[in-house]
Amino acid sequence: MFEINYSKINSYLFCPYLYKFSYIDRKYTQHNPKTSFGLSIHKTLKDFAQKKLDLKRLLFAYEENWCNYGYTSPQQMLEYYDMGIEMLKKFYNAELTNNSKILYSEDIFKVEINDDVVLRGTVDRVDKTADGKIEIVDYKMGFEEKENGYEKNSLQLKIYAYGISKKYSINIDYISYYFLMNQKKIRIEYKPDADLIPFLIDCYKKIQFPVFDRKGRCDICLAKNLCEFSDFKI
Ligand code: SF4
Repeated sequence: MFEINYSKINSYLFCPYLYKFSYIDRKYTQHNPKTSFGLSIHKTLKDFAQKKLDLKRLLFAYEENWCNYGYTSPQQMLEYYDMGIEMLKKFYNAELTNNSKILYSEDIFKVEINDDVVLRGTVDRVDKTADGKIEIVDYKMGFEEKENGYEKNSLQLKIYAYGISKKYSINIDYISYYFLMNQKKIRIEYKPDADLIPFLIDCYKKIQFPVFDRKGRCDICLAKNLCEFSDFKI
């Protein structure tokens, strides 16, 4: 069966060449400070949820999980590292007053959406709120102040909600983006979207036989220095 996931779809929608680069040619995009930092934080928050860490152990896990690639200088790496310490302290304090219970973290689903296609995803967190509602939570670092964009385009969380609802045969009540930089959460009431599966099948058909008739924004593309079709190499 052909496996699709949010990253594949997002790559293709951004630029067919990026999809080719990552998933046909199987090349890797370069890490930059933000992606490397995001990876360190995600790994640490996975440990927080799965090992029920207190603050001291959370910060120790951060040190253990630190990814030191993608930075342009030791000074820059240190600045990000210190920023992560502050971020995790604020996160921990916010969690002390959070009445939700973490049901699953870094939870993987694989759901067949027709005879040919399986939808796969890894969900940062599934919470049960104090009043018994089920909430899908995706961590964002929050570097960009564009939370409104996330609210309008919640494809990633709709995919996760669909996958988790099928995996556990449960109803999902909320989908949320948790911006770690300022501890702000955007919570959206979730209603199953009848257009989601047709949309995913349409994406599958397109990415199976990609048409290279457009390019994404090379200036913000993670593959800009490696892609042979890039208009923005530095
Ligand atoms: S560098 Fe440009 S052409 Fe290449 S994958 Fe990125 S957006 Fe597409």
